[in-house]
Amino acid sequence: MEAINLVCIVCPLGCRLTVTKENGEYKIEGNKCPRGDKYAVKELTNPTRTITSTVKIKGGILNRLPVKTSDEIPKGMIKECMEAINNVEVTAPVKVGDVLIKNVLDTGVDIVASRSME
Ligand code: SF4
Repeated sequence: MEAINLVCIVCPLGCRLTVTKENGEYKIEGNKCPRGDKYAVKELTNPTRTITSTVKIKGGILNRLPVKTSDEIPKGMIKECMEAINNVEVTAPVKVGDVLIKNVLDTGVDIVASRSME
């Protein structure tokens, strides 16, 4: 396997990682802590992301309500997930943590409100 270059997104340091595979094992260089190892392996085997966005809200003090996924979803489903979020319109009041889409795209992950809004 050719070396793969990644930037670790686990913390703001953003270490530049170089990943190679030897005898079936990933070898990671450039990480300043062990979390970079875990990130690189996960990114190459099962990349996932937490999504943050906003939805329309009626009757609130703002026009948009910040939302996020309750857990990470597969990276390949981000576009579909954003489309599902874009189709949601809620009505105030909403409390932080309220579930706005249950089990989005059958991922087992919910879309929840990131803040309360009167
Ligand atoms: S490897 Fe560790 S120190 Fe470097 S960006 Fe990732 S989490 Fe931060």
